Amino acid sequence: MKILSISDVHGEENENLYKYINENDIDLVLVSGDITDYGPLEFVKEFFDKLAECEVDIIAIPGNCDPSGICNAINESGVFCLHKNIIAYGDAILFGYGGSNETPFNTPGEIQDNKIYGDVYELLAEYDYIYNDQVPKVRILLTHAPPYNTKADLTESGDHVGSQGIQKSIHEFQPEINLCGHIHEAKSIDKIGDNTIVANPGMLKDNGAVLITINDGSDFNVELVDLSE
Ligand SMILES: [Zn+2]
Ligand SMILES: [Zn+2]
Repeated sequence: MKILSISDVHGEENENLYKYINENDIDLVLVSGDITDYGPLEFVKEFFDKLAECEVDIIAIPGNCDPSGICNAINESGVFCLHKNIIAYGDAILFGYGGSNETPFNTPGEIQDNKIYGDVYELLAEYDYIYNDQVPKVRILLTHAPPYNTKADLTESGDHVGSQGIQKSIHEFQPEINLCGHIHEAKSIDKIGDNTIVANPGMLKDNGAVLITINDGSDFNVELVDLSE
């Protein structure tokens, strides 16, 4: 099973995305938010309709730069909005949390970091109730904001601006993979503790993406890719 993770579309398509999907037999595309650039919501359906022509499944969450109504717009495009949701997909279990911790720019989708912590904690804790842990699954936490103090949250000016709530929840539950976005210049793969791979694909228009190949629940690989190559 092949999953392609992209983020921070900001209303700009990239033809290389469709080409990459068709040439690499991608099963599922995960979109980590900032689909629009403060709207318009009409772009969401246009973008996902075109992506769906590649015959892939699509799952998305909102970013802090998406206006209110974004979850409805995602669902109305026939795409599953994973925000505060959990879904099983093959040998993966996907958890989603959109928006971001507070920024200096007063954007629409900001959430206080202690609330993010409570929400993401609850989401990851659900896993133990609904799935049998005897069967290995790759737990993928899809967020817009990157966890604090990683390569994924490092700005050009050298500051770590990620979410401490997401960082803390990852420490507690150690999902196998966290796919994020939000900090456009922080395309990277990093690790939290021994068990969690953190990957930020960067912006779609810069050809940023992350490829996740899952052979089974205990055998998977995560790599950064360039959609133009
Ligand atoms: Zn963004
Ligand atoms: Zn953002």
